[in-house]
Amino acid sequence: MDYAASILSHLPIARRGAGLKSLLSRLSYLPPSQLDIVVDAYEFGAQAHEGQRRYSGEPYITHPVAVAGILADLHLDYQSIAAALMHDVIEDTPMAKEQIEARFGAEIAGIVDGVSKLDRLSFDSRTEAQVESFRKMMLAMVEDIRVILLKLADRLHNMQTLYALPADKQHRIARETLEIYAPIANRLGVYSLKTELESLGFQFAHPYRFRVLDKAVRKARGNQRQLVRKISDRLAGALNEADIENQVHGRQKNLYSIYRKMMEKRRSLSEIADVFGFRIIVQSPGDCYRALGIAHKLYKPVPGRFKDFIAIPRVNGYESLHTTLLGPGGIPIEVQIRTERMNRVAESGIAAHWQYKATDKQIIPPQVRAREWLASISEMQSAANSEEFMEHVKVNLFPDNVYVFTPKGAILRLPRGATCVDFAYTVHTDVGNRCVAAKIDRRLVPLRTTIKNGQTVEIITAKSANPDPRWVNFVVTAKARYSIRQFLKNLQHDEARELGRRLLNQSLRDAGSSLRRTSRRRMQTVLSDFSMADSGELFEKIGLGERLAPLVAKILLQTPPADGDTASASPITIAGTESLVVRYARCCRPIPGDAVMGYLSAGRGIIVHRNVCGNLSEFRKQPDKWVAVNWEKHIDREFSAEILVEVSNKPGVLAEIAASIADSGSNIEQVSVDERSEEDYADITILMLVRDRVHLASVIRRIRSMPVVKKITRTCA
Ligand code: MN
Repeated sequence: MDYAASILSHLPIARRGAGLKSLLSRLSYLPPSQLDIVVDAYEFGAQAHEGQRRYSGEPYITHPVAVAGILADLHLDYQSIAAALMHDVIEDTPMAKEQIEARFGAEIAGIVDGVSKLDRLSFDSRTEAQVESFRKMMLAMVEDIRVILLKLADRLHNMQTLYALPADKQHRIARETLEIYAPIANRLGVYSLKTELESLGFQFAHPYRFRVLDKAVRKARGNQRQLVRKISDRLAGALNEADIENQVHGRQKNLYSIYRKMMEKRRSLSEIADVFGFRIIVQSPGDCYRALGIAHKLYKPVPGRFKDFIAIPRVNGYESLHTTLLGPGGIPIEVQIRTERMNRVAESGIAAHWQYKATDKQIIPPQVRAREWLASISEMQSAANSEEFMEHVKVNLFPDNVYVFTPKGAILRLPRGATCVDFAYTVHTDVGNRCVAAKIDRRLVPLRTTIKNGQTVEIITAKSANPDPRWVNFVVTAKARYSIRQFLKNLQHDEARELGRRLLNQSLRDAGSSLRRTSRRRMQTVLSDFSMADSGELFEKIGLGERLAPLVAKILLQTPPADGDTASASPITIAGTESLVVRYARCCRPIPGDAVMGYLSAGRGIIVHRNVCGNLSEFRKQPDKWVAVNWEKHIDREFSAEILVEVSNKPGVLAEIAASIADSGSNIEQVSVDERSEEDYADITILMLVRDRVHLASVIRRIRSMPVVKKITRTCA
């Protein structure tokens, strides 16, 4: 009794059916220890899908078993087979990834999880560019190429059983197979899957054309059987005579490729279906060329139809010699000549790198194997080809890009690490400039959230919104960065002009004049002395602190400057909305109600300090740089304030204080705790948002009344 049979005899009778036996017989290439895991995975899958049925009425487990069988024919490793047996468990049963991981380990669970993620993608755009993006998105989502191989096998079995579905579903799934899955199989060089996906896709996507063509081709083939036998006997005979070991197969031409040729080359069926196909398998590349010579001696070659894919393999690694001969009666004969190895690569492509090898002792990470495949192909590529290759394959296997959906289902490509703000600017500059919030897969997320492959991103905009200068710190696209900077620059110009105009007007008033009372001619004279184009430029320079308002005022009024001039005597009012030309010093964190002074910092506008701030004495040495500042009466925004609380170090004290701050309507921005090891006290520094001094006072009162609090102070440098 072989091992597979002995496993079966130990299984409960109820579980022996559903194709496990035939699957095990196709897995004879795996060692017994690995077959045990496969059977375990089967058990797990069968239990999870217990009671579920397919459209066809069969028990659900027949589907995973069939998918595993397709991968078994590719001789894939046991991890792929086990994952195949459980591939619908996460999506269609209450089982979670964690349960698979606990029993089968992270590698197998990772493959199942990857397939489940692909299952959640759906797509209905029909433009060629969008279809291409979707293929890339699928490949980019996959970290382990076995996920794609499993997904292709899954799709193949679904196509094999598509007859059980309603006609409208058949049509949609078949088109998707032709547009998405067959090209991916082709790109990865997995010909055996590609060919079958194509012919089934053709059959269900264009049932009428398929039937007509199928009938015609069958009829032609019936008449040709004798001829095919005669030609292959002649080819084999000539090769044997030359001592070239060979197998000659009369090749069935794929209906879909016949159909496509008819469409592309606008030929009639008889011109295409009357072509005979043969494949000659020999021992070595040298034999390939010798066999070619013999075939060319036997039948006259058609000029211009010889292709040497051994010297220059196709981008997906395909190697073969192709030629077309003129057979008996002038019938064209297409011949492919290749070695065993070339044939295997042509059939399985990238899958060959996951085929079980008895010598494989160490664990090779999936990315390394994919790289091996790439290396083995790119070695064969000519320079021109490898560029194309990079574009089509490498990009997908080691993605630098993420592919995401817009709410309308279009696909956008962004660089890896892109955030919602990058997405917004990719959609349109206006969307970026006006964005206030984002949703990923319908859930609200912070704008700085990094987006992942396959997600749907929606941007919420507001007419009055402006970009936040801090965005520049996390965006990754050049367009977003440039647009934000550009917008802020313009905004800063506007704000600086407005502030500068007010500063100058204030200084003129201090001297008993005003801007309105300044003659246009006088202004022009001063502007040309300054070599400035217009008053806007002057205001901007003043607003940015590059020119001092009192000095400009004196020049305008033609009064000589005196010693001890201060920037302005009467104060300038700030509203808290001048985000780019008025800043609040971090050393003392002024809030409305505080007595404050403004320091003119060249190029940055005014920096507001509290009068009690220790840094003030330093700055007072340059009195001309200081301006008197007042708060506007009603300021509708919050300011950061910092307090230091000394508390008895008891458990839960921080939570108590945080709760009391929240109760007073303030939000905490940052907390740090400094425990004094020798004593039973801790210092808690809290940065929070308050409206003004009154608000802050009420917060402080509240905290002070707590028994654990020993001391509370507002901090200031
Ligand atoms: Mn499935």
